Amino acid sequence: IELAYWSKEVLRICTAAPDAHYPIEAAGIWADAARLGRPVVHNDYETLPEHVKGGLPEGHFPVIRHLAAPVVEGGEPRAILGLGNKADPYDDADVRTAMLFAGGLWSVLRARRSTALEERATTDPLTGLMRRSAFDQRLQDEWDRARRHGTPLVLLMADIDHFKRFNDAAGHLAGDRVLEQIGGVLESCSPRAIDAVGRFGGEEFVVLVPDATCKDAPGLAERLRLAVEAARIAHPDSPDGEWLTVSIGTAHAEEPMGSDTRALLREADVAMYEAKHRGRNRSVLSCADGLHEFPEA
Ligand code: GH3
Ligand code: MG
Ligand code: MG
Repeated sequence: IELAYWSKEVLRICTAAPDAHYPIEAAGIWADAARLGRPVVHNDYETLPEHVKGGLPEGHFPVIRHLAAPVVEGGEPRAILGLGNKADPYDDADVRTAMLFAGGLWSVLRARRSTALEERATTDPLTGLMRRSAFDQRLQDEWDRARRHGTPLVLLMADIDHFKRFNDAAGHLAGDRVLEQIGGVLESCSPRAIDAVGRFGGEEFVVLVPDATCKDAPGLAERLRLAVEAARIAHPDSPDGEWLTVSIGTAHAEEPMGSDTRALLREADVAMYEAKHRGRNRSVLSCADGLHEFPEA
């Protein structure tokens, strides 16, 4: 049994570790309630035989009487709500209230835990942005939506320039801080809440902008690139200048066809490498009539 949540009152008078785990054999009436799958009440704790009393953790407050209300799902015990030391004996009304309350509380806790787990699975811990897998899923969802509605979308891929040299000169930890910072910059200059920003790989980021066309791409790409420049992050060993910069490639789908988002990612990647090739700290847009470079050469 994991002792998960305590009332303020208990925390004030009980020195037992609030987050400890106890083997079920040593968990007294909590274990009884779980085993029996029904509430257990002892109104006169002192008179109970030792083997029934057993299992209170060290530092537990003295028990006068108590009530354990289990939460059972599909025949399996999931949680137990314990109440203790009411002035009068616990009666049937107390038991009904405790059972109702335990069920409600459990629904809330379960929902919170699954949200926290989900977040951990989809969020990159360093930058707080979407992980690659979550971004891929989002891209697919937006792609499908765009196809249904016949709306366009733009994908941007940004890669930090000379980041290996940055790490080599400033250290990997400083590099990590920069990744966090760049992630924040990209997120803060993505204009709408529906834009998805993800960490695609080591020092590569992706931004997906639904309802944007090829004509919007230069503005979007340059906003990101200039925002990174404006953050004035010193690069101690760049052959191209004092500050850290990014190169950006974009691809767009005016009318998404088929179900393949990989071609779009590939196109943005190719454009990004073209931006590197042309000298870095620039945006290259892949459009129907070829590649366009910004700022214009
Ligand atoms: P380019 O301008 O051509 O992109 O050069 P680059 O050095 O940025 O590219 P390269 O692909 O040679 O190196 C990428 C570097 O990114 C190497 C790797 O150490 C660094 N990197 C990748 N992931 C992380 C990370 O999580 N933390 C840190 N600190 N560095 C990372
Ligand atoms: Mg890279
Ligand atoms: Mg790079």
